[in-house]
Amino acid sequence: MVICGERLLDVSKYAGSLLLDGLLPRRCLCCDARVAFEAGLCAPCWRAMPFLERPWCQRLGTPFSYDVGEGAWSPRAIAEPPLFDRLRAVAHYDGPARQLVLSLKFSRRRELAAPMAAWMMRSGGELLDAECLLLPVPLHWTRLVSRRFNQAADLAREIAGQSGAGYEPVLLKRRKRTRQQVGLTAKDRLRNVRAAFVVDRTRLETLAGRRVVLVDDVLTTGSTVTACSRCLLSAGAASVDVLTFALVDPNASDDIAVHG
Ligand SMILES: [Zn+2]
Repeated sequence: MVICGERLLDVSKYAGSLLLDGLLPRRCLCCDARVAFEAGLCAPCWRAMPFLERPWCQRLGTPFSYDVGEGAWSPRAIAEPPLFDRLRAVAHYDGPARQLVLSLKFSRRRELAAPMAAWMMRSGGELLDAECLLLPVPLHWTRLVSRRFNQAADLAREIAGQSGAGYEPVLLKRRKRTRQQVGLTAKDRLRNVRAAFVVDRTRLETLAGRRVVLVDDVLTTGSTVTACSRCLLSAGAASVDVLTFALVDPNASDDIAVHG
């Protein structure tokens, strides 16, 4: 019997993957249970994932409990229209979504950025095209030194790589180290991040007239992306959209560390 070269390669690849599976079994991204597919969740984690599903507010991406038609705004978006055009998120900041955010940020599980970015592309597909610029919400340099990486930049880089959108990691800078937003009043939160961001003057031409998609891991109060949007629009961006992995329920208490 003759086995051609290509077939032989297939057989050896299959044997190799069997061997690799035996040595390195695939694990759930959240709880370490064995799973059948690479970069996936086990069934209980999948069921517990608080995905945000359509129909949702055209501006804030928050789900409606019933379908009110395409392009509808939530009462919150009508009462306080955001500076950015559209916000999209994968899930509420709870359960496995919270676990993934914390693991990426504080346990330095940077391999989570690729599957999290894939989910973000599914939720925010309408924001992404080859013409837009993806900008991570920046960390202050002192925070970057201590954490050694910016999780928002890891997500933005992955989304750019998978979607073909432009990636500008240093166009927007954080010049002020802000206090954590948790526990501050709405007024204090805005004051805390006011003038915290600046556009790199050497990148103004790149920004002029472009549609920007701000990328972050979790959106808590919205004051950070509002400050970023104000800065980018005044520096010449045509519009700003926001794409984040998780969204804190504004009515829920939160215990997370935000950027600073
Ligand atoms: Zn699991």
